[in-house]
Amino acid sequence: MAERRIADPFEHLITLSSRDMANVINATPIGICITDANGQFEVVNPAYCDFYGYEKEELLGQHFTLVVPKAYRDKLSQLHDTFIAGNEIQELRQEWEVRRKNGETRTIIAEAARVHGEDGAPRKVTYVVDITNRKRLEEQLKQANERLDHLAHHDELTGIYNRRAGLMRLEEELKRCQRYGSKLSVVMYDLDSFKHINDTYGHGIGDDVLQEMTQLMAKGIRSTDFLVRLGGEEFLIIMPEVDVSSAYLAADRLRQQAAATPMTTHALIVTLSAGVASYMEASTTRMLDRVDKAMYRAKQSGRNKVIIADDVT
Ligand code: GH3
Ligand code: MG
Ligand code: MG
Repeated sequence: MAERRIADPFEHLITLSSRDMANVINATPIGICITDANGQFEVVNPAYCDFYGYEKEELLGQHFTLVVPKAYRDKLSQLHDTFIAGNEIQELRQEWEVRRKNGETRTIIAEAARVHGEDGAPRKVTYVVDITNRKRLEEQLKQANERLDHLAHHDELTGIYNRRAGLMRLEEELKRCQRYGSKLSVVMYDLDSFKHINDTYGHGIGDDVLQEMTQLMAKGIRSTDFLVRLGGEEFLIIMPEVDVSSAYLAADRLRQQAAATPMTTHALIVTLSAGVASYMEASTTRMLDRVDKAMYRAKQSGRNKVIIADDVT
């Protein structure tokens, strides 16, 4: 019975002449190089030369680390030696930074295979794909996503947390209180007679006040506190691990600083009225409601004041 042969898809290549093989390598649009056991270029195809910006003659006989930035040369040499001496036929696909003749750095994906020449010596065939543009696009996309994420959580004018992010933060802090019995206080403040500033000096100066005031407050709070723009000229400071009397002292200090700091080119004195509330097994809504009432009381009793929510009946 005739022996059935399993078709080898590459078998017909064996019948190609070495000239045909060279044509295939030369026409391949992917950069290909063959390095000998010492790491010296034996073969480089036109795509490889184009990519690196060298003439074929400038590469042949040179050590392959010619196209590797100095910082990675030792490591890549070592990997080359290990691959040549090892048992793996194929090297893992990897990303590398490489250097073109003109000094430009590019990112490639390299894949390699070990072959033996007619002399029996092992060689490394490396296939190189330029992914610099893809990497650049990925980086731009990442930065755009980070910007979007920042915009979603921060107020554009002042750069601090926006209402949505602030309330989420408050929710988290409340859960921490419920779980661990830790302390938490909030200060809500609103700028006094702010409409008057806009009406007298214009919206632009109003914006400057909001920014300068925010910087002043941000400098005056602890690094563990969170400053939130709730909307308009109304703000919230979340103070984890702070009891009501310390929160009151902090808020009153901030009130005094505001009243003593001239703002904008018009050296305007802008005051604020604030409420203070501490955690009392309440929801965020309840806590905000209590602190809002306290702030309202501060407004009613003449502005430029701080009132503690527990005083509110
Ligand atoms: P009160 O002392 O009672 O708080 O009086 P007020 O004038 O500060 O309060 P009111 O709510 O009447 O006015 C707030 C003003 O804040 C009205 C609004 O146009 C202004 N405002 C809100 N957001 C911004 C902003 O982003 N920029 C500027 N320039 N003004 C803003
Ligand atoms: Mg106001
Ligand atoms: Mg307001």
